[in-house]
Amino acid sequence: MKPRLFTPGPTPVPEETLLELAKPVWYHRSAEAKAILGEVAEDLKYVFQTAHPVMVLTSSGTGAMEAAVVNTLAPGEKAILLTAGKWGDRFRGILKAYDTNLVVVEQPFGKAITPEMLEKALAENPDTKVVFATLSETSTGIGHDIAAFGQIVARTDAILVVDGISGLGAMECRMDAWNIDVLLTGSQKAMMLPPGLAYIGVSEKGWKKIDATPVRSYYFDLRKYKKSIAENDTPFTPANTLIKAQRTSLKRIRAEGIENLWARHAKLAQATRAGVQALGLSLFAERPNNALTVIAVPEGIDGSAVLKKLEKQHGFKLADGQDTMKGKIWRLSHMGYTDAFEVLGAIAALELVLAESGYTFEIGAGVAAFQKAYAG
Ligand SMILES: *Cc1c(COP(=O)(O)O)cnc(C)c1O
Repeated sequence: MKPRLFTPGPTPVPEETLLELAKPVWYHRSAEAKAILGEVAEDLKYVFQTAHPVMVLTSSGTGAMEAAVVNTLAPGEKAILLTAGKWGDRFRGILKAYDTNLVVVEQPFGKAITPEMLEKALAENPDTKVVFATLSETSTGIGHDIAAFGQIVARTDAILVVDGISGLGAMECRMDAWNIDVLLTGSQKAMMLPPGLAYIGVSEKGWKKIDATPVRSYYFDLRKYKKSIAENDTPFTPANTLIKAQRTSLKRIRAEGIENLWARHAKLAQATRAGVQALGLSLFAERPNNALTVIAVPEGIDGSAVLKKLEKQHGFKLADGQDTMKGKIWRLSHMGYTDAFEVLGAIAALELVLAESGYTFEIGAGVAAFQKAYAG
């Protein structure tokens, strides 16, 4: 059986990138390694849609989240956290670990934070230094209106930090035009690479705040990374094999063009939603994003058992809900190196398993609706 990966991280990696990963390991301070990092840093600016340098960290995405917290906040300073799921909650944990005076604006799983909620929180807390938001809440499938958040925060002295993990490279996000001060992502979601690298860009307003904040981390001190990246270098030994492979995946993204890539994900997401709804299933996210589709498990169906069968019988690996959402949702990723015909296959396989589980619907309805939506 052919294994097919549909989890919202890690995601499939292009063949030419996998071949790059098979090559011999080389010295990370060589002229060649620096030239490669230089190219990667340039192409990352393109993906981030920023003129500011983007720094490369050897860590998972959470490392970049921690870097964003520890570099922008002194102990006791006030931050507003906008959270609507597991990944917003990860910021909560990091912010607590660094003694932040935390104001939490929260929505239940499946719902999105509105710009009005942010406006109100900022009006009530004029001493806020940093606002934390999530572009794509991968645990529920919702997307946030970061452009609107950026406009609101830009009118204040606070800076806006955005967790772009899973969203960046799958849905529209423009760091400079949207007034994002710190934007971060990880390599294993829409960046078409295995796990292991994280990327972080900082605006001028962001650097001003960082430069006025005491250093509290050695490994994640962003000033060090800023100094190094100006010379196409990193302060510590980087995962240079991954950086080289990222160059290959970034070339693919550049060749497609970022706007075409956003449009491709939008079309794929729309067709997936149509397919799922034609099966009588409902979407879990009230404001769905284009990186993944999250499906509410229907009454009387054992959600986790369906996913196990999908993998065992047909090779399709989708993701379950996390923590309290386990068994209640199915998460199907269509970000990065995934095409329409693979997603069509996933819907077809889901139909077969659902039919076996006693769920009533017309077999083929999801596949037909996907095809019709995709044809436009
Ligand atoms: C996956 C994910 C994370 C966690 O990243 P790790 O690489 O697992 O540390 C954080 N935020 C979002 C939105 C994610 O999708």
